[in-house]
Amino acid sequence: MAEQIQAFTIEQFYKHLLQGKLMGAKCRKCGKVHLPPRPLCDSCFSKDFEWIELSPKGKLLTYTVIHVAPSQFQGMAPYAVGIVQLENGVKIPGMIRASPEHIKIGMPLTMDFGTCAATQQWPQWPRYFFKPA
Ligand SMILES: [Zn+2]
Repeated sequence: MAEQIQAFTIEQFYKHLLQGKLMGAKCRKCGKVHLPPRPLCDSCFSKDFEWIELSPKGKLLTYTVIHVAPSQFQGMAPYAVGIVQLENGVKIPGMIRASPEHIKIGMPLTMDFGTCAATQQWPQWPRYFFKPA
């Protein structure tokens, strides 16, 4: 039997998160790591990927404080969303669970895959957030 390759989809990405693992799709041709995974490399257009586990630690590159939130997040506003650069260089957007006045560019953050009460639809990234490391 051929080895079962798990599809490089956002659903599979979330399944890994449920297992407490942050997995990205690494292009076997050019080495670019895609987070979230995508079926086609945006760098070399290869479809040949492998899963790699990534460190959930990173630092904050930039952020915005959301005051007017989508209805399912209104109870949390104001809150911050930012772009976090993980230790291997991959950048990923996410919500930052910290008081906006305590958030600083460059601060160390760690990704948390804990429960997120909001039931938001993909592609708005409901199932993880960042917290101060
Ligand atoms: Zn590639």
